[in-house]
Amino acid sequence: FFVDKCQVQEESAYITGEDAKHLEKVLRLKVGDIIELVVGEELEYLGEITVVEGKSTQVKLLELKQVQRESPLEITLYQGLPKASKMELIIQKAVELGIKRIVPVMNQRSVVQLKTKKDQQKKQERWQKIAYEAAKQSKRIKVPEITLPMEFNRALDNSFEEFQIVAYEDEEKKGIKDLTFLHGNKDQEVSRATIGLWVGPEGGFAEQEIESLKKIGANTVTLGPRILRTETAGLALLTMVQYESGD
Ligand code: SAM
Repeated sequence: FFVDKCQVQEESAYITGEDAKHLEKVLRLKVGDIIELVVGEELEYLGEITVVEGKSTQVKLLELKQVQRESPLEITLYQGLPKASKMELIIQKAVELGIKRIVPVMNQRSVVQLKTKKDQQKKQERWQKIAYEAAKQSKRIKVPEITLPMEFNRALDNSFEEFQIVAYEDEEKKGIKDLTFLHGNKDQEVSRATIGLWVGPEGGFAEQEIESLKKIGANTVTLGPRILRTETAGLALLTMVQYESGD
């Protein structure tokens, strides 16, 4: 479970809202049960449940755990907005794999275009909830941020990462292994690197989008000779980058 620092008083933490309900009604946890608790997206504790009241559960903090589960790489996935519920699958799996942030991108060839602010906010809230649940189940310390969906040009303007990698099926030669900056991480050179990963929607990137990405110094890479579905491509790219950089 995750709690804010302000939910901790003296030696006890207080779990409230949906989490308290889930804890009591679904997980059927009781007084005396031991749970794992992350405080302020920073410290992980073992705690003992001392009061279960439906709206609020009191947990006595027992032991601080020294775990390092977060990758030192700060990876953002710029995912071309796919059809139907594929985005939910991508978010859940990317969080399990260690992503720090996901930006849903409305590309020129995205079939799905969320036009109104209301639609965008509704989706973002649902996606953020999925990220929260996935972070809980993977025992992440930090819950990754899922931003509001953005038009491609806006996402590009807002991208701040030191290195940008684009999965591009027309790139024939360069693969992940050719990105020397990733190997440097093994020697602690880029141990805190920020990396942006770009994946197109079902229809792929428009040429103009690839040109714009190249202009900001992005590296296009192939993910191999087979064409992957958009929901496979981002997860494969993320896994390869983590592996290649040793995290
Ligand atoms: N039509 C399929 C679908 O419905 O998902 C395939 C879509 S593929 C064009 C979507 C994106 O995945 C591409 O824009 C690219 O970013 C990435 N991708 C898929 N296979 C790839 C490969 N072999 N190499 C590099 N990128 C790839």
